[in-house]
Amino acid sequence: MRLITLKTGEKVPALGAGTWHMGERKDARAGEVSALKTALDLGLTLIDTAEMYGEGGAEEVVADAISGQRDRVYLVSKIYPHNASRKGTRAACERSLRRLRTDRLDLYLLHWRGSHPLAETVEAFEALKEGGKIRGWGVSNFDVADLGSLSSVAGGGNCLTDQVLYHLGARGVEWRLFDTCRKSDVMVMAYSPLGQGRPLGNRAVKTIADKHACDPGAIALAWVLRQEGVLAIPKASRVAHVRANVKALEIKLDSADLAALDVAFPPPKGASPLEML
Ligand code: NAP
Repeated sequence: MRLITLKTGEKVPALGAGTWHMGERKDARAGEVSALKTALDLGLTLIDTAEMYGEGGAEEVVADAISGQRDRVYLVSKIYPHNASRKGTRAACERSLRRLRTDRLDLYLLHWRGSHPLAETVEAFEALKEGGKIRGWGVSNFDVADLGSLSSVAGGGNCLTDQVLYHLGARGVEWRLFDTCRKSDVMVMAYSPLGQGRPLGNRAVKTIADKHACDPGAIALAWVLRQEGVLAIPKASRVAHVRANVKALEIKLDSADLAALDVAFPPPKGASPLEML
């Protein structure tokens, strides 16, 4: 497994597993657990979830998938911005821990910036860290200016990651955000790295997939992972998709592949507001 080193020195897998829309339907649960277990078996030991996903349902699916192997997993969950007050953060974290049937999160993220002052949320994250409830914290959907605000609050420099939308069809973050994160050693976690399937039907992606004898999904992910220090968290609730996606780790896109993808999905030519789902 390719690893990414966090500013704490800890290493995490470059390819993880997302869980949005899991835990929403009872009849889908067994399949979702089985897909996540397959991901873990194949070395995708970072699992990304959130209290928002299925209003806690996804965290319960994750609990089933990691049962008996919690120590192998780097577990990421997220707090709703409206819960991220000094008191609310602790309560939301406890609820997530209960649903996940674990005593700690490896990483706890503010899902997007809300109205509670960042200083309060950071203080609450740091208190959870001291109490052993979380091992680290980060943010999601933070643009360059938001990261600037974060760095000015006490403890803001302890932010480990910014989880942002990044895929072939959404490249705006390449303009400034990636550099900003690299300068402060904040790992970029790419969400929706498959573009929720949309770019996979593109002719250039299909041609490159044929050349590398793999699934278009593996090409889309290899393209995201070409960026040093960027981690991808594709969601797959079908085992076949998990197996296809893990092949991304073996694919090295050459300059002709990258040039063809730049034509099909042009890089940004200037600043634009951060895209988010
Ligand atoms: P995604 O990973 O880009 O795409 C997921 C979709 O692609 C699912 O419909 C999945 O189908 C399908 N898929 C997976 N592998 C495939 C393959 N090889 N070929 C064709 N289709 C394939 O989208 P996402 O779920 O939005 O993003 C990934 C994760 O990022 C989320 O699950 C979540 O954990 C996180 N996220 C975070 C935020 C945030 O605001 N922080 C926002 C969005 C997402 P099946 O499920 O049927 O296998």
